[in-house]
Amino acid sequence: MTFGSDEGILDDMPRDLPCVYRAGSLGEADIVAAWLEEKSIPAFVKDAAAAQGLATPFIAAPKGIEVCVAPDRADEARSLLSRHRAELRQGKSASNADAPITAVCEDCSKASTFPASQARTVQTCPWCKAYIDVPAARRN
Ligand SMILES: [Zn+2]
Repeated sequence: MTFGSDEGILDDMPRDLPCVYRAGSLGEADIVAAWLEEKSIPAFVKDAAAAQGLATPFIAAPKGIEVCVAPDRADEARSLLSRHRAELRQGKSASNADAPITAVCEDCSKASTFPASQARTVQTCPWCKAYIDVPAARRN
């Protein structure tokens, strides 16, 4: 066994990314993450996979859904967010019609996201190829 050959490189994928925002729903988390990426800050929605497994994705996560960024960008992201938090919240309702829509497949129970332009249409489940009804855009 050569000690040191396996350096266990975690720098690429830190286990504990700093959380810079706690969203009330996966949709809000997605919006914040997309917004941060627009500012060239790589952002990740923590527990997105777990949240997608929920049968009812629109239900608010009890502890909130965390949006994380690379550790070296955390301060930047936090200051951007604190400056724009109100704007983001307002923008969320103003541009809600454009927010992606989450639909749950009745066949495989997996949640998928569809663009708002596909609201109230029938699409194909990306997981199992069954037909899936995309609901109307969510209103807050
Ligand atoms: Zn499916």
